[in-house]
Amino acid sequence: MTEPVSLDESFDCQSCGACCAYSADWPRFSLETDEELDLIPAEYVSADLGGMRCEDDRCLALNGKLGDHVGCKIYAIRPIVCRTCMPGDDECLMAREKHFGKAA
Ligand code: SF4
Ligand code: SF4
Repeated sequence: MTEPVSLDESFDCQSCGACCAYSADWPRFSLETDEELDLIPAEYVSADLGGMRCEDDRCLALNGKLGDHVGCKIYAIRPIVCRTCMPGDDECLMAREKHFGKAA
C-alpha cells in the first residue's frame, strides 16, 4: 500500500507566495518586540505601524512572481505570523485556493 503524501512535502513556498499576497490584514504584527520590529525597514511597514505594508493584498517585501518563483526580502526578520504559517495549514490552503483556484 502506498503511503499518503504529506501535504507539507508537496508544497514549495519558493514557487508559491500565495499567503504573502492573501490579504493586507494578514501580515500584521503581534508579539514581536520593539527591537525585532526596528529591524524591519520602514518602507515595508504599514502606515499604521501595525503590520507589513501591502499593495492591494500583496506584501511589499515579497519578491518575484506568484506561482513561479518568489522570495521574502526580509526573510530572516519576518513577522511571527509569517513564521508560523506552515505549508498545508488552513491559512496556506485558503491563500492557495484564492490565487490558484485549488489548494494543492
Ligand atoms: S501559501 Fe502555503 S505553500 Fe504557498 S508560500 Fe504560503 S505556506 Fe508556502
Ligand atoms: S514579510 Fe515576507 S513572509 Fe511575511 S508576508 Fe511579507 S513577503 Fe511574506
